[in-house]
Amino acid sequence: MFIALLAHLTIVSAYGPLDYNSIKERFSELESRCEFIKVTSAQKKYGIAYPDHCDGCEHMIVTIGSSLNPSTPQVYFSGCLHGDERVGPVVLTELATYICDNYDEDEWIKRIVDTRTIIMTPMTNAVGYYRNQREEMHNKNSDDPNRDFPFDNPYSCFSTLAAKTIQKIYEEYLIIAGITFHGGESSLTYPWGAYNHYKNGKSTEAPDDAAFKSISKALLKYSEANLKVGTMSDVVYPVNGGLEDWAYAGGWDNQKSPCFSQNFSNPEGLRQAFFLVEAHDNKSPKSSLYGNVEEVKTGGGGLIPQYIRMTLSLTDIAKPYITHKVTRIPAGVLIEWELWGCIDVVYTQIYYTVTVSSNEWETWNSTQKFTGGCKWGNFTQFSQIFKTDEFYFVIIAKVDDWTQQITPDPNISPQTHMVRMRNSQNYKVKNSMFEIVGDDKIVTQIHKVTDVPMRQLRALLPQGEFIIKIFPGYIDIISQESDLNVSNYGDYRYTDQTESLMKILCNIKGPVKIGKYKNCNDPYVLAGKLIMTSDGKSSAIIEAEPSAEMLTSAICQNKDIVITINKENDKTFYVSVYSDYNWVQIKNGDNSINVTLEQGKGNKFWKFGNNLIIGATIKYKSEKNMGSCVVGIAENTKFSHSYTKIELPKWALAVLIFAKVLAVLIIIAAKLRRKKGVILTERKYEELDLV
Ligand SMILES: [Zn+2]
Repeated sequence: MFIALLAHLTIVSAYGPLDYNSIKERFSELESRCEFIKVTSAQKKYGIAYPDHCDGCEHMIVTIGSSLNPSTPQVYFSGCLHGDERVGPVVLTELATYICDNYDEDEWIKRIVDTRTIIMTPMTNAVGYYRNQREEMHNKNSDDPNRDFPFDNPYSCFSTLAAKTIQKIYEEYLIIAGITFHGGESSLTYPWGAYNHYKNGKSTEAPDDAAFKSISKALLKYSEANLKVGTMSDVVYPVNGGLEDWAYAGGWDNQKSPCFSQNFSNPEGLRQAFFLVEAHDNKSPKSSLYGNVEEVKTGGGGLIPQYIRMTLSLTDIAKPYITHKVTRIPAGVLIEWELWGCIDVVYTQIYYTVTVSSNEWETWNSTQKFTGGCKWGNFTQFSQIFKTDEFYFVIIAKVDDWTQQITPDPNISPQTHMVRMRNSQNYKVKNSMFEIVGDDKIVTQIHKVTDVPMRQLRALLPQGEFIIKIFPGYIDIISQESDLNVSNYGDYRYTDQTESLMKILCNIKGPVKIGKYKNCNDPYVLAGKLIMTSDGKSSAIIEAEPSAEMLTSAICQNKDIVITINKENDKTFYVSVYSDYNWVQIKNGDNSINVTLEQGKGNKFWKFGNNLIIGATIKYKSEKNMGSCVVGIAENTKFSHSYTKIELPKWALAVLIFAKVLAVLIIIAAKLRRKKGVILTERKYEELDLV
C-alpha cells in the first residue's frame, strides 16, 4: 500500500489515446470507486437496439453528480459523433477520472459534483469509435449521426443508434449547456450551423449570440486552448440535421423536419447553450499532444488538460452562485464574497439589518452597488466592512446581461435557458422530471453575524454526556440523564428562537429535537449559528456556516463523528474528534489553536475568526468540571465520502508521515510552478495545518 502511495506521488500521469474497451473498463473502475459516478447504457436504460458490427458494444451513458434533484443544473457532453475523431472520448473519460480523483481534495470539484449533474456519452457513436470509422455502420449501410437530427432536415430522424441515444437523454433531462466534441480542425463554435440560417455564404446572428460569444471567450481563457472561434457555419461549415442547432433551437425554431413532433416529447429541453469543439486539426493526434494530469491544475499543457478545464468551467457556468466568508477583524466584521458560475457582474451589493422582523430583505439597508467580474470573467473579490457586531445580511447580484443582440435571426429575444434564467424574474421551465429555475438576480440565504469573542467561550458543560445529532429534518440533543423532548422548535437559524431553547438544553435534559430543516437537497439546510446559554455563566456554540450543501449529503448518509471536550486548565482545553475513519485532537489556548494529529487520517478544521469550525454529526461529550468549547459545522469537510479505518503499526505510521511530507513538498513545488490565474481551488477558510 505504501509503495503504491509513493508511486502515485512520484509518477507524472501522461494522457494518451484510449480505445473502446479501455474506456469501458475505466468507467467501470470509476463507478466502483466514486459513488457519484453512475454508468449505464442506452440499451439498458432506454431499451434501444444493440448494434451490429461491434462486438458487444453499448452506447454508454454516464452521469456524475451527488445531488440529482429536480432543479439540479444539468450539462451534457458528447465524446464523439464521428468515430474516427479520437480526442473527445478521451477528454470525457479523463474528466470523469479527474473528478473522481480530486473530489476529496479540491473544494471546487466537490462543489461541481455536489451541486450539478454532468451527463455524458463518452463514445456517443459507439460503433464508429469501436471501429475507428466516422459513420455508424448498420447492416450494410453507414450513416452520419451528425446529419440525423430533426432540424432543417426533411430526410433523416434519429435513425442512427447514436442519435437515438441523444434523443432519449434529451427527452429525460433538462440540460442547460453542452459541448459536442469532434476533430479535424481546431475550433470552438456555436449556432447557427444550419442552412436555414445561412445567407450570402454566412451564418446569420442567433438570438443568443451575445451569450455564445461571451461564454466562448470564457471557455477559451480558462482552457487556454488555441482555437478559432465563431459560428459553426462560418468557421466549420453549415449542415442539415446537426445535433448542435437542434439542441439549441429544436424547441422553438422552424425545424423543417416532418418527423420532429412524432419523435420528440420534450421540446422545452431544446434551448441549450451548445458548443461544437473541433479538438485538433488531426482527428487522431499523436500521443505526445495529449498532455498529463498535472497540467489540469498548472494551466497550459496538452489537449486533454485544456478540454478538461473547458468542460469543468462550462459546468460551473451552467448556474451562477455566490460564495462568501465572514471574518471578525479589529475594524469590525469583514464580509468578502465572489461570484461564480458566471462571467460579468452587472452589480452586487449587501442588504443588512440589525433586527430582523421579516425575511423581506428588500426593506433592509443596503451597501453601494459594486461592479466587476465573476470567476470566469475579470474575476473580482468583493468586500465590505461592517462596524456592527451583530446583524443579518443577504448578498445579491445580477450577472451576465446577454439580452441585447445586433440583428438576431429570427428577430426575437434570447431563447436559451442560460440567458433566460439570468434575466427573467422567477424563470421556471419543467418537464416530467426536472425543472430549470432562475431569476433576474441571485440572492443568498439570510445569514447572521454574531459576536463571539473567545473570552466568551468559557462554558460549563453539564456533567455527564450529551450527544448532538444533526439530521436533515431536525437536531437531536440527547442526554443519558434526562428525556426532555422539544420538537418542531422552528427554524434553528434564528438565534433568538433557539437561545431560550438552549437555556433549557444546557441544564441538560434530552433528547431534544430542534430546528426544522427543509430536505437533504436544500443547500442552506445548515446555514446559521446557534448560541447555547445555560445559566448565564456557560455557553457553547454550534456554528453552522452557510452553504453547507456538502455537509448535508453527509448527514443524509448518517456519518457520525464524536467530539470530546476536556479542560486542561483555565486557558486551555482540548477537543478530541473521533469517527469511524479518523481520530484527532485539537488543543486550544486563548487565541491560538494548535492541532495535533494523533492517528490515522486527519479531519478538516478551519479557523474562522477566533472560532474553530469542525464539520460533523456531533457526539458531544464532557467530563466533570469541563471548560468551555466551541465546535461547529462548516462546509469543506470530508465526510460525504466513506473511508476505511486504518489501524497502523508505529513503523507504518512513520512511513505514512514520510509519504505525507513528501506529498506536501510536491504540492508546494507544484504551487510554485503554478501559473497565475489558473488556480482551480479557492479556499474559503483559513485552514489549520494538520500533517
Ligand atoms: Zn466530426
